[in-house]
Amino acid sequence: MKQLFEYKHSLRHRFILTTILMLIPLAILIAVQYLVFDRTITHLNNVSEHSSLELTNIRQLQHAMHIAVMASNDYLIHGEVIEHENYAAIASEITMTINTMLKVMAEHPDEIALVEQFNELWGQIDQKALSILAITNPVGNRTLAKEMELLDALSVQAISVLQKMFNIVTLEIAEESEDAAYLSNILIILITGGTSMSALFILWLNRNMANAIVNPICCLKNAANRVGKGDYSSCLSWARQDEIGELAQSFDEMTMHLEQAQNKLEILSRQDGLTGILNRREFDRLFPIELNRAARFDRNLSLIFIDIDHFKEINDNHGHLTGDHVLQIFAKLVMGTIREIDQFARYGGEEFVLILYEVDREGAYVLAERIRKLIEGANFGEVDDVPVRVTVSIGIACHPKNGASERELIESADRAVYQAKSEGRNRVICAD
Ligand code: GH3
Ligand code: MG
Ligand code: MG
Repeated sequence: MKQLFEYKHSLRHRFILTTILMLIPLAILIAVQYLVFDRTITHLNNVSEHSSLELTNIRQLQHAMHIAVMASNDYLIHGEVIEHENYAAIASEITMTINTMLKVMAEHPDEIALVEQFNELWGQIDQKALSILAITNPVGNRTLAKEMELLDALSVQAISVLQKMFNIVTLEIAEESEDAAYLSNILIILITGGTSMSALFILWLNRNMANAIVNPICCLKNAANRVGKGDYSSCLSWARQDEIGELAQSFDEMTMHLEQAQNKLEILSRQDGLTGILNRREFDRLFPIELNRAARFDRNLSLIFIDIDHFKEINDNHGHLTGDHVLQIFAKLVMGTIREIDQFARYGGEEFVLILYEVDREGAYVLAERIRKLIEGANFGEVDDVPVRVTVSIGIACHPKNGASERELIESADRAVYQAKSEGRNRVICAD
């Protein structure tokens, strides 16, 4: 359970917690609706019980009272013995109804008091009626007529008690009905309001859940698209600790490794494998850029071609591996002589090229001479105690003096090298 509340560490826990939170308002709503509904039904039951039992009994008693009094009265007027039976039947009905009412109204003290009051009056009425019916010649009997008047008065009292009872029960029914109507209104409010609130709460939870999952997935998708297009700046660095956080971390690591591998590849694609300086492809890419720059800003640019003299003989005399070693030492020596902004590339085989930005013919010549002398005096190792030495022939072409295009400059420098070779090698020649 404790784990569940650490939902920030797990999407699964977040899902379970959200589902539980969705169910809670629904469960509360159902429970409250059930309680209110139950109470409404109880009130409605009370209403129907009162109306069917109490009111019916009261009406029955009122009716029976009339008949009982009527039997005594008819006996007084007509003296027919049949009235004894009529009275006995109705009297027993009244007694039974009173007993029923005492049971039905047991929980209502006001009504019970009235039933008892009626019962007492009924006792007096019954006594009076039985005494009238006990007389054998009732017709024209003045004393009986007086008794009959007293009986009538008692019956009026009894009927008024019944009327009071009727009023009280009617009032109670009205109150119960009002309560039932009030509760049913609450029920309606609960169903509509509660359901709407629950729906809003569930929508809010769903929105939060969607934000927690869909938004980061969209971000990841966009970042993956950018990485796919070679943009490795999409570092997510999310502080989330759940599965999406882990995914983002893996994504960042993957992006970082891809960027490193890409950078390595780019460097390798620009480098010459043997000497580590720029390769021919990179020279072909850089030279037009540098030349354009020089032309746009009206600056000098010198191109120096260097060809190692009789290099074939080194291979032939000392082996290919020594030849490779010479090329590596040569590249290192030249790299140590030039500026950081100068571009030094292997043009092919034992031919090298230097692009010198903002360097004129004189400057290029000074540098070329320095390189020539450096190579001439350098030791390229020993084979059988004999030091390996090389010289270079160098040709220089300058922008704009020897041409404006790449082709013109390369051809001029190449021609200058050729001239240096033909004039005896180990020299520097500037193109005309
Ligand atoms: P020159 O003075 O006229 O330039 O004569 P050279 O012998 O230097 O010129 P040539 O073009 O006749 O021979 C160049 C040689 O350079 C031929 C080739 O085997 C060798 N070479 C080219 N690339 C490499 C390499 O990477 N390693 C080694 N060891 N030799 C190479
Ligand atoms: Mg050559
Ligand atoms: Mg050569």
